[in-house]
Amino acid sequence: MSTLLSVERLMAGYGQARVLHGIDLHVDEGEVVVVLGANGAGKTTLMRAISGLIPSTGSIRIGGAEAGGRPRPEKVVAAGVSLVPQGRGTFAALTVLENLRIGAAVRRDTAGIKQDIEHWFEVFPVLHQREGQVAGTLSGGEQQMLAVARALMSRPKLLLCDEISLGLAPIVVADLFAVLGRINRESGTALLLVEQNAELALALASRVYLLEVGRVASSGAADEFRDNDAVRRAYLGY
Ligand code: ATP
Repeated sequence: MSTLLSVERLMAGYGQARVLHGIDLHVDEGEVVVVLGANGAGKTTLMRAISGLIPSTGSIRIGGAEAGGRPRPEKVVAAGVSLVPQGRGTFAALTVLENLRIGAAVRRDTAGIKQDIEHWFEVFPVLHQREGQVAGTLSGGEQQMLAVARALMSRPKLLLCDEISLGLAPIVVADLFAVLGRINRESGTALLLVEQNAELALALASRVYLLEVGRVASSGAADEFRDNDAVRRAYLGY
């Protein structure tokens, strides 16, 4: 399996405040990887740095090509990495359909874009029913489905999901994770999931990185993390 995303010695922060202190992490093609960590560990900062939304130093390689100290967000998307940001991140004043079209901004294949919109409407029928509705008036779960579908409209090889379970009812979260699992199995899209609520993410993932104050405190197979008492207490609540 070849490496899709490789991050080495990644440092990033805000102004003078450094949040990430040299992260090493990789995701192979088709792999599902979860990043766990307490509030403030730097998970969102990591996702934003990989996506080129904040400056960073160190190395970010996508598909073997160096993306640079500060890769441009549109370059990252064009290279095959797409982010579902924390807090939904849909365009509230635009309709469902317009949001999906924006997700395909890096593509030029009009027929393929149309096909993909139809495909995601099949996967998320509620989005089809609400295609003309502005995103801001969708329910939290619907907005999160739209954020996922929009990120997938660029046909990424790797989907970054920043706490997509946050604030959603358990049944909605279970549905979303089931869809993510299907997407991974059927199209081979790799997933890098950031989660505080780890149960479903751990069930889907094969590997885990545990982030503590901007550093990788440990990493390994998801099974081992599920069986680890300290991890269970901290992230699984039992
Ligand atoms: P959570 O699970 O609470 O979302 P996280 O692991 O995603 O936490 P980050 O959001 O990456 O953590 O935040 C890491 C640190 O960076 C925190 O101390 C936070 O206060 C700080 N931080 C985040 N965003 C900014 C910002 N825009 N400006 C300044 N500091 C920030």
